[in-house]
Amino acid sequence: MSEITLELKGISKSYLRGEPGEVQVLRGADLALHAGEVVALVAPSGAGKSTLLHIAGLLDTPDAGEVRVAGEDVSGKGDRRRTRVRRQEVGFVYQFHHLLPEFTALENIVLPQLANGTSQKAAAARAAELLDTVGLAARADHRPAALSGGEQQRVAFCRALANSPRILLADEPTGNLDPATSDQVFAALMTLVRGTGLSALIATHNLELAARMDRQVKLENGVLVPL
Ligand code: ADP
Repeated sequence: MSEITLELKGISKSYLRGEPGEVQVLRGADLALHAGEVVALVAPSGAGKSTLLHIAGLLDTPDAGEVRVAGEDVSGKGDRRRTRVRRQEVGFVYQFHHLLPEFTALENIVLPQLANGTSQKAAAARAAELLDTVGLAARADHRPAALSGGEQQRVAFCRALANSPRILLADEPTGNLDPATSDQVFAALMTLVRGTGLSALIATHNLELAARMDRQVKLENGVLVPL
């Protein structure tokens, strides 16, 4: 088997709320993602998919358990190290594109590369190549408002992959699109992922899309089980 890029071991997380008090969302969730593998994360709304993705993406910390990125236990590390690993190794896509409205599609993909120390010229070349891969070369100079929902989401994928992360995490990335567009956007995502050998964990309600991924896991009672 190929290298494990992301490993979650015994992840637990609860939230404190007024009524009915503490809610335990994750209860010892385990997962190993291998390089090149695309895994569907399926569960009803409220089951804890976003919580799990945020912990896996080092945006939130678990109450217990380990998050290992490329073999390194990142959960015990300080904020600076976690931020660095997140920036270099993890790409995140949400249900809504969250592109910066005042910048063009190309610039939205250039910016995270500049923040990571890439030169303007190399960043622009990489952004153009990514846009071309998802069929949006002709839209490079458009701002998000001038793009359709499916196009915006394809740009968001390019941005997530701009710094060549090992891991892509996506939270209902096609949840906001009609079925035909959703299909198209998913195909673009698979082209991007297959071209790089990165691992992806993609939360979706859509069982038909889930079936097109390499493997499916379900979040049930706070743990991950095969679907
Ligand atoms: P999903 O993504 O599967 O819809 P979430 O991870 O968003 O599920 O939420 C799981 C549960 O945890 C829900 O009951 C939600 O209300 C609760 N929850 C999520 N985030 C918080 C928070 N910051 N504070 C309190 N409760 C939260």
